[in-house]
Amino acid sequence: SSSLATDNTTNDARFKGHDMLAPFTAGWQTTDVNPLVIDKSEGSYVYDINGKKYLDSLAGLWCTALGGNEPRLVEAATAQLNKLPFYHSFWNRTTKPSLDLAKDLLETFTARKMAKAFFVNSGSEANDTQVKLVWYYNNALGRPNKKKFIARAKSYHGSTLIAASLSGLPALHQKFDLPAPFVLHTDCPHYWRFHLPGCYLYGPVGNNSLDICYKEYILSMLMNISGETEEEFSTRLAKNLEELILKEGPDTIAAFIAEPVMGAGGVIPPPATYFEKIQAVVKKYDILFIADEVICAFGRLGTMYGCDKYGIKPDLVSLAKALSSAYLPIGAVLVSPEVSEVIHSQSNKLGSFSHGFTYSGHPVSCAVAIEALKIYKERNIVEKVANISPRFQDGVKAFADSPIVGEIRGTGLILGTEFTDNKSPNDPFPPEWGIGAYFGAQCEKHGMLVRVAGDNIMMSPPFIISPEEVDELISIYGKALKGTE
Ligand code: PLP
Repeated sequence: SSSLATDNTTNDARFKGHDMLAPFTAGWQTTDVNPLVIDKSEGSYVYDINGKKYLDSLAGLWCTALGGNEPRLVEAATAQLNKLPFYHSFWNRTTKPSLDLAKDLLETFTARKMAKAFFVNSGSEANDTQVKLVWYYNNALGRPNKKKFIARAKSYHGSTLIAASLSGLPALHQKFDLPAPFVLHTDCPHYWRFHLPGCYLYGPVGNNSLDICYKEYILSMLMNISGETEEEFSTRLAKNLEELILKEGPDTIAAFIAEPVMGAGGVIPPPATYFEKIQAVVKKYDILFIADEVICAFGRLGTMYGCDKYGIKPDLVSLAKALSSAYLPIGAVLVSPEVSEVIHSQSNKLGSFSHGFTYSGHPVSCAVAIEALKIYKERNIVEKVANISPRFQDGVKAFADSPIVGEIRGTGLILGTEFTDNKSPNDPFPPEWGIGAYFGAQCEKHGMLVRVAGDNIMMSPPFIISPEEVDELISIYGKALKGTE
């Protein structure tokens, strides 16, 4: 039977045997189904049902950018709920908040001009919408065969059928008969793990077979004893991408999708010159570039968008999470003038773009997002993140010498730690040791929540985190690491 443990001596706020089939959670026989019950939030902190306080180093799920109790967001939602809780944006009807948000949002994106915003409820829906937009676009242009997508190994783009297909994480594919056949995966741009020599056992795991990796490895041993530089690694990945495009036929490849910094795959910032080289290849073959900014947008990297940081000029952009600081579900797709022009001009001939959700442009979510964008601007949030990020990055990276740390990587307010033996990407700890899970439990004990995925630990604190809170985060991280070594 279900119950809440309320034993204050152990402060166990774990729910036993609940009635949810919870997302991304293992079977009933495991401890995964005894979740920590979170009850309240305040700034950078959350509280469990017994009142224990935790520094929320993941900002919910990479999303509560303005922290736990921003009154202006609550007021914006309340005012809109009182005025008009819902009307749709289908056909020739809409609401003022959705019109205003589209305008405000397009103004924030300056890496290149974007013409239109399409509203959805989540990051997964944003990426599903991307695929349909791109297919519609190529159908409108009379290119019915240009339909395949290239994504990257270890990427995360969501968990609906199409978004999970785009994702490059085996757990999202196994048991679900995915990825869908129109999705191909190219290399993960993780320099530490995959640069040559020394990586052939573990990948690159995109389109490359183990044989190709082995050949690359032997060649690199012969020709490049000191190992690839980041630039050389990026050049090889761009070459691999081009080979994949040529093998499949450029006329069949519609779009390439990438997170500026990979998030759920383990926090993987791109190596030097990577996006410059990848964009050149994509452009050469008339392939659209989709930037999945669901985690990176609105300041996370110390720039308004990940595209600003890495010189990406995308055709399409996916947004969610910090768009409303997660106070209500909302996502968006930004569409370039070229793509939206084709869609508009062809829709009389081809039929309307028959896609959307009841809650596309939900007025209450839009009202909250408008207020969030206002706050980001008024409080110079991007500058604030840029200023505080060295304290966060340098503070945590100071633990890189720990014997159980393979690599600590990140930029802005996003950071990943990977535990391996011998400082080597090729010496993972046996999974049954559960090093990552143990570290996560140690953090929890000391009052901090982190994201654990195997031996990868991820953090992305709220943009409003104070210097003192960063110091507390570093101190708890250090204690948890000591307890795990
Ligand atoms: N894209 C990226 C880069 C993400 O990190 C996520 C979620 O973490 C998604 C898409 C999916 O978003 P949602 O969970 O809102 O569907």
